[in-house]
Amino acid sequence: MFERIDYYAGDPILGLMEKYSADSNPNKVNLGIGIYYDENGVLPVLDCVKTAEERIADPIAPRPYLPMAGLPGHRKGCQELLFGKDAQILKDGLVATIATIGGSGALKVGAEFIHDWFPQAKCYVSDPTWGNHIAIFEGSDVEVGKYPYYDKANSSIKFDEMIAFFETLNKNDVILLHPCCHNPTGMDLTQAQWDTVLNVVKARELIPFMDIAYQGFGEDMDSDAYAIRKAVEMGLPLFVSNSFSKNLSLYGERVGGLSVVCPTVDETDRVFGQLNATVRRIYSSPPSHGGRVVDIVMNDEALHEQWVGEVYAMRDRIKAMRLKLKSVLEAKIPNRNFDYITRQNGMFSFTGLTPEQVERLQTEFGIYMVSNSRMCVAGLNTSNIDYVANAMADVLKD
Ligand code: PLP
Repeated sequence: MFERIDYYAGDPILGLMEKYSADSNPNKVNLGIGIYYDENGVLPVLDCVKTAEERIADPIAPRPYLPMAGLPGHRKGCQELLFGKDAQILKDGLVATIATIGGSGALKVGAEFIHDWFPQAKCYVSDPTWGNHIAIFEGSDVEVGKYPYYDKANSSIKFDEMIAFFETLNKNDVILLHPCCHNPTGMDLTQAQWDTVLNVVKARELIPFMDIAYQGFGEDMDSDAYAIRKAVEMGLPLFVSNSFSKNLSLYGERVGGLSVVCPTVDETDRVFGQLNATVRRIYSSPPSHGGRVVDIVMNDEALHEQWVGEVYAMRDRIKAMRLKLKSVLEAKIPNRNFDYITRQNGMFSFTGLTPEQVERLQTEFGIYMVSNSRMCVAGLNTSNIDYVANAMADVLKD
């Protein structure tokens, strides 16, 4: 009966994690999956989260269903983080926000919504992008195309080509954008470049869908949301998916949000209703525990401030690792330019290693990164960075 079912080859990034776990090399280093590990190589539980957990710790409390859209405090937390605490559109009730099952859940609900209500729209993602973007939109029967983004030869962004491509798109086509810490390249647009992109979006009446999974890991909470707030200032309709997986270090709790900025209160109500309907027919309502943590941390002023400080500490540690990696590689291979390592933002560095070099790192050194050469810089620490840098220099020299 099930013989005709296709085998699933597994997810390349999650599969890498399994391979890493099975590796007996005592020096092995996991730079594959996008997870922040601290200086001791440990997945941190943030202090603000510990406090929130203490406040809700009651193992025998009743567990009612949450509303389809999740907890109001979770939704408010998403909105204020993305659009700014005092944003006029929030006061005017022009944002429909639901709490979602991580950033992935937000993308899924958004993709379903686009499929249902903008059936002609194609969705364009950056080349390259996080692989699941394509899978999620195609899984909702939205046709996916790619727009030019990363210039491998120069470790930069093909900005002019990208803009020229956007100029060819049709009204209501969706462009999926990464407001900060582009995954997988780490290469972000400048604010002036965002202005240009959004002018094209406006002129061609495209639908921007901004996916922000690393807010706070780039420059700061507000600068990282520049593109989102600029789009709002320009009066554009806008989808935003956000994830708390990385910046609250709550990966397994699956917490995120989907926000849709609408022109009028009536449209906001309609969109909010349809987002609820979409949730109802997929998973009915989100889980409660992570949502309660988000609610507490985002809405308690002192905890929120502590949280921001903890995110910036993660950000700064990653930046320090970038500097160190660059300096060791420059010393080892002086005729090669490694500036790209510190020009990139967030957790990832596109190292430009060939698939063969990535393979050698894995088999000879037990260093795991994605075959497209994406390295999770957040997996580096002072104990493993020399080992990694020397190994990289080795495979680059040969
Ligand atoms: N969007 C991007 C760009 C990501 O990198 C990720 C996770 O790696 C997500 C969305 C999904 O986030 P979550 O793990 O919260 O589903």
